[in-house]
Order: sequence, then structure tokens, then C-alpha cells
Amino acid sequence: MLNILTFAQGPVQTNAYLVGDETTHQAVIIDPAWDGKALLAEAERRDWKITGVWLTHAHFDHIAGAAAIHRAILPPPPLALHAADLPLYQMQGGAPMFGMSIESGPMPDLSLVHGQLLKIGSYTFEVRHTPGHTPGHVVYYCLAEKLVFCGDVIFQGSIGRTDFPGGSYETLIESIQANLLTLPDETRLLSGHGPATTVGLERAYNPFL
Ligand SMILES: [Zn+2]
Ligand SMILES: [Zn+2]
Repeated sequence: MLNILTFAQGPVQTNAYLVGDETTHQAVIIDPAWDGKALLAEAERRDWKITGVWLTHAHFDHIAGAAAIHRAILPPPPLALHAADLPLYQMQGGAPMFGMSIESGPMPDLSLVHGQLLKIGSYTFEVRHTPGHTPGHVVYYCLAEKLVFCGDVIFQGSIGRTDFPGGSYETLIESIQANLLTLPDETRLLSGHGPATTVGLERAYNPFL
């Protein structure tokens, strides 16, 4: 069974996901939003081994816990990011723009590309490049479990902001249409903020689509 734990963390209540395969006890952290130690403590409690840290994009509220995780595990689990978000990542994810500061994270080990396949235990996830909110935003799609970790691309009844540097409304809508609305209605969408939703619900009720 794939077990998904959601932690709303940090100043803008960003969803960090701890996702574990209960059979193999391997787990991945998707968007270590703020408190890396809290995510690791829960993994330890469940006897899960962290085999990767996957970023949907490099905004500061999704990456701030990466440094603490890198420090705590030896050898550190590989960190995955799309190259187009690397400049943002290296600028503390834009934190200074908001008058904030976060601890800079380690350099990513894995430069993600569209169509790449990643594993959590025995579960396969497909990387889909979905720019618009940021240039290097990706989502992680698991066909077998019918779910997508979709970061700040789409939310229940809303879509990601496109008024930050590198954002584009037209590109975001294209990304959603090509990569999310093509999925079956029952596919669950686990967003970077707020509650989960489904492709079918957003197709029917999202006012931006
Ligand atoms: Zn964002
Ligand atoms: Zn966010």
C-alpha cells in the first residue's frame, strides 16, 4: 500500500508530503516545505527509509526543509528538481523578495526531465513538466494509484499564481490542459496548498478552466 501523509507547514501553510510504500518501507518527501525535522521524525516513527526528496518547484515555501533533511541523513537522499527552476532555487526560492530568509539547500542531484520515471518503493511516478507558475515546475503522476502531486499548478477551485518572476498565465493553462485535464476524472490531485481534489471536479467546477 502507498501511504500518503500530509503536513501543512510554514508561513503559507504549504503541503509537504511524506509518501511511503508500506511493503518495502521506502519513502520519499515531496516538497520539504518548512520543517524537515518533523518529516524525518514521522518517517523514523514508521521505520521508513527516505530514498529521495522531490521538489515540484523551487519557491521558498516548498524547499525550506531541504537543508535539514540533507544534514540529518547519511548519505543524504538524492534531491530532484527541474533545471529550469535552478536559478530560483539558488536564490533561496525567492524568499528575499518577501522579506524572508531560509537556509539554502544542497545542490540538486537529479535534474528532472519530462517523461522521466521515478520510484517510491514499488510504485512508479512519471515526471511531467508543467511550467507557468515557475519555469521548472513539475508534477509527479502515479498511474497505478491514480494520483498526481501537482504542487502549485492547480488547487481546489483555483490555479497557481503567475505574477511572480518567470510566471506565465497562458503557459500555466497550457500545462494544465496538456498534462492534467488529459487524465481520467477520478485521478486525485494533491496540491501544494489546501485540500486534495480530483481532475473531474476541477474540470467541472474550476472557474479558471
Ligand atoms: Zn509556488
Ligand atoms: Zn506554494
